[in-house]
Amino acid sequence: MSFLANNYNRKKISFKKGIGSYLIAKNGKKYLDFCSGIAVNSLGHANPRLVKALNKQAKKVWHVSNAFIIPEGEELAKKLVKKTFADSVIFQNSGTEATEVAIKVARRYFYSIGKPKKNRILCVKNSFHGRTIAAIFASGSKKMTEGFGPKVSGFDHFTFGDHESLKKKITKNTAAIMVETIMGEGGIKVIPDWCLKDLRKLCNKKKILLILDEVQCGIGRSGDFFAFENSKVKPDIVPIAKGIGGGFPMGAVLMNKKVSKVMVPGTHGSTFGGNPLAMSVGNEVMNIVSNKKFLNNVKNLSKYFLKNLNNLKEKYPNIIKQIRGKGLLIGIQIYKDQNLFIKKLMENKLLTIKAAENVIRILPPLNVKKKEIEIALKIIDKVCSTF
Ligand SMILES: *Cc1c(COP(=O)(O)O)cnc(C)c1O
Repeated sequence: MSFLANNYNRKKISFKKGIGSYLIAKNGKKYLDFCSGIAVNSLGHANPRLVKALNKQAKKVWHVSNAFIIPEGEELAKKLVKKTFADSVIFQNSGTEATEVAIKVARRYFYSIGKPKKNRILCVKNSFHGRTIAAIFASGSKKMTEGFGPKVSGFDHFTFGDHESLKKKITKNTAAIMVETIMGEGGIKVIPDWCLKDLRKLCNKKKILLILDEVQCGIGRSGDFFAFENSKVKPDIVPIAKGIGGGFPMGAVLMNKKVSKVMVPGTHGSTFGGNPLAMSVGNEVMNIVSNKKFLNNVKNLSKYFLKNLNNLKEKYPNIIKQIRGKGLLIGIQIYKDQNLFIKKLMENKLLTIKAAENVIRILPPLNVKKKEIEIALKIIDKVCSTF
């Protein structure tokens, strides 16, 4: 009997320990964890460098208010700015908070230049930006918003890939377009580079802001530090979370100078956001992930993984419909029962997680070993052969 509310459909298993890409269940069984807490454990479980960073900070200071300067946060912000398009950063505790700040910044920007009516955010229908009241209405998903009215206004929606509808939905009151560079929950749908470029051009032409939600696909997950990087596009605002904390809850919003300057004292705040413990871990994640060699290794692992998954697709054309994704954010779209497939993978000691459109989501830690990918491929092969 559990005293937790029933809002999750949990698998009947729990874990006592994690080491690198593996989780050890209470019953002693060892699982290859290619779920990584949904792209959170970016450097695997109990990563020695992260453990050290956390322990070191734990002995110094856990928490101080944002009423004071937090050097660990200054350091992490500097690292993020040096590595990316951004000129400044606001720290949060989660992805949904980061996307909400992105919305706040966009609105405040137009308010500050005397256009307060320019406040609507244009999003992809059935996207995912988190579970707070505004974020669920940003998603335009019936499932997520049902029963949580009144509807939060200020969001418009277009269908993924339907460029005509996107253009039609932009009005004089549109402040920003907010999209996930790679849709995660939505089924691992990648926005191609040419499309990101056109999106930027469109935003420039209409004088609106571009928000790219990199909460799931950012921080090296795509093989680049940000999934939009290869397109050379510069967004105005980018919410991040998940992978940056390596398992410690944190989020952030990255902004260019044009928009960040409107966030003057009093416009936003957070008790825990930028907490020294989170910042210390974030700094160490950055030290590792922002390294070019590290990212090249992610790209090479991805190439190997995707090539072999596509071979499995050839081998099992009646089971695998499509291999999707970029870097180590991978989706296997199948024809068969998704839940049963995930269950069978788990019986064979491989943990994965589902996404929309009957996609099995595969998110190994970014420092996964090639040997571990080989093991996962064998398990997927075996499960396919039993359908
Ligand atoms: C997970 C996710 C969020 C929400 O993050 P939380 O930390 O769960 O609040 C927002 N946007 C995207 C793209 C996500 O994948």
